[in-house]
Amino acid sequence: MKIIDKLYLSPEYSTLEELEADIAIYDATTLRQLADCPRKYQYSVLDGLKSGSGNKTVESRYLIAGRAIHEALDVLAVTGDEDEALTKLTEDWGDYDSNPCPENEAHLTHNLLTVVLHNYFDYIKTGPGSQFTPITLKYDDLNFDRLMGGKFRLLEDGSVLLSESSLLMRMTVDGDDFYYAGKPDQVVQNTAGNTYIMDHKTSSSYLSSWHVSQHRVSNQLRCYMGMMHELTGLDFHGGIVNAIYVGNKASSDTFKGTRFASYRYNWSQGHVEEALLNQLGWAGLIAHHEHMNYYPQASGMQCRSCNFSRLCEAEPEFRDGVIYTDYTQEGWRDFFTL
Ligand code: SF4
Repeated sequence: MKIIDKLYLSPEYSTLEELEADIAIYDATTLRQLADCPRKYQYSVLDGLKSGSGNKTVESRYLIAGRAIHEALDVLAVTGDEDEALTKLTEDWGDYDSNPCPENEAHLTHNLLTVVLHNYFDYIKTGPGSQFTPITLKYDDLNFDRLMGGKFRLLEDGSVLLSESSLLMRMTVDGDDFYYAGKPDQVVQNTAGNTYIMDHKTSSSYLSSWHVSQHRVSNQLRCYMGMMHELTGLDFHGGIVNAIYVGNKASSDTFKGTRFASYRYNWSQGHVEEALLNQLGWAGLIAHHEHMNYYPQASGMQCRSCNFSRLCEAEPEFRDGVIYTDYTQEGWRDFFTL
């Protein structure tokens, strides 16, 4: 199936690069990171440091695997063709099998991800995924009033596939305007016509109800509902979290745990407005920290799983040196060629 990219820019933006720079700042993930730890926002967004696991310029295989699975499942949702989805996985994964990585990521190979996808195909044929189809609308039926810019995907018949559309919108809550950027994994409806935002989560931990229930108040999915409502005029019913286990036993025949889990959360308009208000509060923090010219550290719990902890552990006066030696490509090259 042929898909054509279509770019929309409001008069505020003249190039895609300008739009993407603002999307990077107002992206849902970025603002959540800011809410978790302003210092992490400083390192990753302002300083542009990569937060790979344990080594600084090599992207985490978990991130790459998550992205490859997302892309493959998107192809599956659009085409319904398992072979095309597997081909997409192979293309995206490339030769990552031979890239160096930490021991705890070494199980993430093309072979394991292929097994994961095959198992997932079986799972959704009878499971919850089978009842959802991607929503498409005519491009001219979209409401561009609040859209600052967007990268859409058009199908051969000219309709817009809302899934994986990358959008920057001006949202309003309690009379205040703020920018919000997002790229929903899948925008779907079930056979009853109820509409949902579906998000694929890959996890290295055994799945359990507890794991997926952690998303029951997802700010991101609730804001996506608000954003999609403004763009399409459709009322959204909630979010669906599709969790996929990619841990080191994912391809084992004797695995006893849960490999896949899907949960549906129904959210009201009140839930959506509250999520937008949260987002407004976090966006306001950017201005506050800019004014202070200081980005405070997290209070502790966030640090346990943070890949910048090595940097924060260093004495403040030595951090520029640690950034150079451990977090930049230049530092690595110097270190290995000494
Ligand atoms: S180690 Fe802690 S304080 Fe430092 S960036 Fe990470 S979460 Fe923030």
